Amino acid sequence: MDEPAPPRYSLRGPLALSRTGIDRAGHLRSAEDWLESAWKDPRSRAFVVADGAVAVLDEALLLGAPGDLPEGERFFLGLDDDGTAFFAVHVAGSHPDARAVGLRQAALRLGDRDVGLMVHAVALANWHENHRHCSRCGEPTTVALAGHVRRCRADGSEHFPRTDPAVIVLVSDGDDRCLLGRQARWPAGWYSTLAGFVEPGESPEQAVAREVAEETGVAVVSCAYAGSQPWPFPSSLMLGYYAIGDGVEPRPDGAEISEARWYSRAELLDAVGAGEVLLPPAISISRRLIEGWYGAELHSRPR
Ligand SMILES: [Zn+2]
Repeated sequence: MDEPAPPRYSLRGPLALSRTGIDRAGHLRSAEDWLESAWKDPRSRAFVVADGAVAVLDEALLLGAPGDLPEGERFFLGLDDDGTAFFAVHVAGSHPDARAVGLRQAALRLGDRDVGLMVHAVALANWHENHRHCSRCGEPTTVALAGHVRRCRADGSEHFPRTDPAVIVLVSDGDDRCLLGRQARWPAGWYSTLAGFVEPGESPEQAVAREVAEETGVAVVSCAYAGSQPWPFPSSLMLGYYAIGDGVEPRPDGAEISEARWYSRAELLDAVGAGEVLLPPAISISRRLIEGWYGAELHSRPR
């Protein structure tokens, strides 16, 4: 039997949070003498990250010399093309600067280099905040490798930042309609593509088929990878897929998904125009999957 044809859609342009302009230079994380001199070099650039926020001035990160920043956990983030070193300082509590904005607000204002720096720093900071103790023995851990490891003082074990893979999928049917759903806990009008975490021992493609079946009863007959972006809220990596499903009437699971339905392009355009469907935010891969299927940007009321 022939394999079912894979979906033919693609994302339009780069994903907001997958941009970067920095060489992470991981080999320098253990070069302690080099790190110390880079920290003291007034040409190096650094910024504060606290509670998922950074200070933004106009369309750029507010950067300063490392020595001018408050005390905190130091993260070495890498080098730019000129060899300038970039650091973040993670401080507890709310951000000390009134110009602080979170990643969701900053992502579309910042250029490639600054988005890459911010996503890296926020993802690290989220992990450090939630992994202060050793998972083996429960003793406190300390920062090592310029922010990219925590080490246990009692047993010497090393703990690496974790990233949780999740799949997010736009399912279309034989009539080229797309399947959108809404979670019961979302405000009225919010719709999105289907998503869920990859379980242990599972491939992303298996997770796509399982999540779609669990949430809507639709069977996936083929799927194709579309693209990915980090989603550090607090630690996900979103793996985007286009899938083709059988066109059965969706049966929402009632637990995670309270409503699900197929939309033709005309139906979706009408529903968005009438404000009945509020699309996911522009920085999300979900929005980009929908627009890739639709074939153009869609303009939705903000949600
Ligand atoms: Zn330990």
